[in-house]
Formats: sequence, C-alpha cells, structure tokens
Amino acid sequence: MSTLAAAVEVRGASKWFGAHKVLDEVDLTVCPGHVTVIIGPSGAGKSTLLRAINHLEKLDAGRVTVNGVLIGVREHGTRLKELSERAILAQRAEIGFVFQAFNLFPHLTVLENVAAAPVATGRATKTEARERALELLAQVGLAEKAEAYPGQLSGGQQQRVAIARALALRPGVVLFDEPTSALDPELVGEVLAAIRALAGGGTTLVIVTHEIGFAREAADRVVFMDAGRIVEEGPPGEVLDRPRHPRTREFLSKVL
Ligand code: ADP
Ligand code: MG
Repeated sequence: MSTLAAAVEVRGASKWFGAHKVLDEVDLTVCPGHVTVIIGPSGAGKSTLLRAINHLEKLDAGRVTVNGVLIGVREHGTRLKELSERAILAQRAEIGFVFQAFNLFPHLTVLENVAAAPVATGRATKTEARERALELLAQVGLAEKAEAYPGQLSGGQQQRVAIARALALRPGVVLFDEPTSALDPELVGEVLAAIRALAGGGTTLVIVTHEIGFAREAADRVVFMDAGRIVEEGPPGEVLDRPRHPRTREFLSKVL
C-alpha cells in the first residue's frame, strides 16, 4: 500500500522515556475506513503509540502520516523537522480522540460539550454546531440528554457524549484509548455498540481495548503489541484464533 492510500502510516516510530524504550521501531499501516484494534499488556506502549499518532507525544525517531500528511518526523542523524503549532492543530482536527476518562467539561451542557470545538476553531457557526451536535447525540442515542450536564449522566452516557464530541470536527480518523476500561461492566456494552455503529461509516477507527469479543466482531485488523513492538497483526480470525507468536498466545490465554 502506498503512503497516500493509508489513513494512518507509522514508520520506524521509536520513543524513549529516559532509558526505557517504550516504542521500538513500530511500523503500522491503517487503511481508510478500517477498524484496527490494538491489544496487548499494560505498559506495551499502546497509549504512547496513539498519542504519537495524534502528536500529543513527540517521537525520538520515525514518522507518522495521517491521510497522507506528515505530522511527525525525526530521522536518525538528520535534523529534527518540526511542524508549526498551527499545522499540528490543523492535523489534530483530522483526528478525534476518545480517552479512558471522558474529560467532558463539567460546567457545559452535553450539547455545548459536543458543539464547543467546531465553534472555537471557527469551523462552524453556533447554530450549525448545535445542529451537528444534536445529530451526533442522536447517533449515540442521547438526543434527549442534550441539555443535561455531564454530572447528571452515567459513565456510559458520558463516554457516548465523548464519542459524539470526538466526531464533531468530522475527523477522518478516530482514536480510542481503552474507551470502556473506566466503566462498570454493565455499561460497557452501550459504549461498544456506539463505536460499532461508527464502523463501516467511512471513518477510520483505531481502538485500544481489552474487549477481545468486540475485537473479534468489529475489527478488520487486530494488532498485538508487547514491550514497545508490534509482535503480530492480521485479521481477527488469525491473530485471536490462530496466533503465531507464543507471546500473543500467552496474552490471549490470560484475557480470554
Ligand atoms: P500501555 O498503554 O500499553 O499500557 P503506555 O504507552 O502507557 O503503555 O506506556 C508504555 C511505557 O511507557 C510504560 O512502561 C509506562 O510506564 C511508560 N510511560 C508512559 N508515559 C510515560 C511518561 N510520561 N514518562 C515516563 N514513562 C512513561
Ligand atoms: Mg494505555
């Protein structure tokens, strides 16, 4: 696959925290419209990889392109090429991010939370942003909560608002970092259903999760990471049901 055809392309991404190499020459290609699920033990570097894709974390080596646009580059032995803050912000608008902790603005209503970014970035008028926010809230099943405050919602509802908010700028790519890990078990299903509803809609999804059942059902590709590396990747039927690598088998035997 060529660089231009990939929604996200990571090449030779390395990152150290002190003496600890948390990303070790990671290569990852995500096809447009695909759902990619990243699994792996705690400390594998999954969050760091997502953060690097969104330019929240600077790489020490390697590069990331999103929709063919270079957003991070540093090659060994060459001068560090930095993007302007403006270019980074423009790229981030292309990428939605849903965190484990929903991080909604507590003093804003649900509708205002979803409409805030398009208004703040000048991409929509207040009226347009509110209309779009209502559509997105309907999409995640929360239209009737538009005027509520986050504190009045369950964790699952708050996370569905966070998903609607991540879609407000019409990003081509949405990254999810353990979107259901902070939820009570009975609330996990509604959030996974909201994510599943996005799949197939043309938006590219990259999801870090321990929900193996969800990965099996919703993923086009599953990526197993351990110790800063991608150990193996492929269709869910291969990686989850016929893993080649002993490390993958060991991990799956613990979480399945
Ligand atoms: P995962 O999401 O797979 O659990 P992370 O990407 O969060 O893994 O972390 C990978 C490794 O990097 C872990 O050992 C973690 O302790 C370390 N790490 C993450 N962020 C920092 C940081 N800001 N400073 C130092 N070490 C960090
Ligand atoms: Mg993590």
